[in-house]
Amino acid sequence: MLVGITGTPGTGKTSVAGQLKKRSGYHVIHLNELIKEEKLYSEVDTERDCVVADMDIVEQRVMEKIDGLSPVTILDSHLSHHIADIVIVLRTSPDKLRERLQQRNYPENKIQENLEAEALDIILFESVEWCDKVFEINTTEQTIEDTSVAIEEILSALLTDRDEQVAAKYKPGSVDWSETFFS
Ligand code: ADP
Ligand code: MN
Repeated sequence: MLVGITGTPGTGKTSVAGQLKKRSGYHVIHLNELIKEEKLYSEVDTERDCVVADMDIVEQRVMEKIDGLSPVTILDSHLSHHIADIVIVLRTSPDKLRERLQQRNYPENKIQENLEAEALDIILFESVEWCDKVFEINTTEQTIEDTSVAIEEILSALLTDRDEQVAAKYKPGSVDWSETFFS
């Protein structure tokens, strides 16, 4: 089972994926690193200082890397919802996200771009449009540990085909930053 952890940069995807690997031993693919290491991009966007990934090739590489021995492969990336049919979208309030991106020394224009994307639910919308199963977790008041526990709850429900309850608990659309961000 391939499960994507997606969300705006800074929402904690890589931290949580690392914690899950430690706790449960699940196979984790850090997609952004794979794209860079294997140069799976078609363009380099110098203005925005990022690469434009060739998603067909990326998807093909992910499928080749899936380890049949692990019941779950976790795909860590803000691009994972382009590939996985089951995704968990991490959400963080723009205020908190700003602190995290500042700590990462992102330039102000890149911070603003990401905060707006988070406030407009862009990744959540894309996920709902493209994926079969979408779970949303508000991590704003959570530790990395709390979020890992929530994801384990979702994964074990999926593995036993009992995901109705978790689907209700982590239903997409429960988070709304528009009031605090745009007012
Ligand atoms: P992403 O992969 O989504 O860009 P990262 O996991 O790389 O996010 O970065 C999140 C940053 O925020 C890390 O430096 C992490 O230590 C910090 N952080 C602080 N509190 C939390 C939390 N509750 N959940 C996730 N990350 C947190
Ligand atoms: Mn990351």
